Amino acid sequence: MAIRFDVITIFPGMFESPMSETLLKRARDAGLLEVRTHNLRDYTLSKHKNVDDTPYGGGVGMVMNVEPIVRAIEAVKQDRPGARVVLMSPCGNRFDHAHARELARNENIVLVCGRYEGVDDRVRHFIDEEISIGDYILSGGELPAMVVIEAVSRFVPGVLGDHESLAEESFASHILEYPQYTRPREFRGYPVPEVLVSGDHKKIKAWQRQEALKLTARLRPDLLKHSELSEQDRKILKQIDVG
Ligand code: SAH
Repeated sequence: MAIRFDVITIFPGMFESPMSETLLKRARDAGLLEVRTHNLRDYTLSKHKNVDDTPYGGGVGMVMNVEPIVRAIEAVKQDRPGARVVLMSPCGNRFDHAHARELARNENIVLVCGRYEGVDDRVRHFIDEEISIGDYILSGGELPAMVVIEAVSRFVPGVLGDHESLAEESFASHILEYPQYTRPREFRGYPVPEVLVSGDHKKIKAWQRQEALKLTARLRPDLLKHSELSEQDRKILKQIDVG
């Protein structure tokens, strides 16, 4: 299965480099991912190719017109009728691992990128959902769209190589990933934990689980409410509490 993103933006050039390097390039080359950008200015009926105007009621800045956005969405949908339409917006649902996994079930996703002070509120009637990538304001929806594309693509079967495991990653099971090390064995007085060079796989697994739990308890205790914990896990967590 492949996934296709259609991005509606006034800055299509912003997508060129990120989509033609690294994992995303590999996924595109393999035919697993397609990213098409649509320049919003091609959908305006205004003579001067304007896509924004001053807000009704006054106030600072400019607001993006509803018409070009809706015409662009409709153009894409003509080609991809079942596409899920997402507006990038700081007011949307906060994007996370589970949301990325859920979006990856769609074959076609349209990402609408706002600019200026945001979009005319009536755009809401023409979209399926709004996504925020965090509680801060960016100047446009392009970077958030790229975040969504990269996070969602990782769930498309075949995009990650065999050696890259989704299951063990942070958030997959509401537990952060265990700490990892590579050469050298000691760096400026900081050694690699002895157990990792012991060759004892059972011991290594147990250590990794313990460290993942410790890390989660220390950095993201909120995640533990949702994680599946074994008896042994609970014992470890109790010990941390005491220690
Ligand atoms: N005035 C608006 C912010 C507009 S920012 C407000 O106060 O809510 C301009 C555009 O950038 C938005 O339309 C949206 O597409 C994008 N954007 C900014 N921050 C974002 C975020 N955290 N997540 C997703 N999109 C964001």
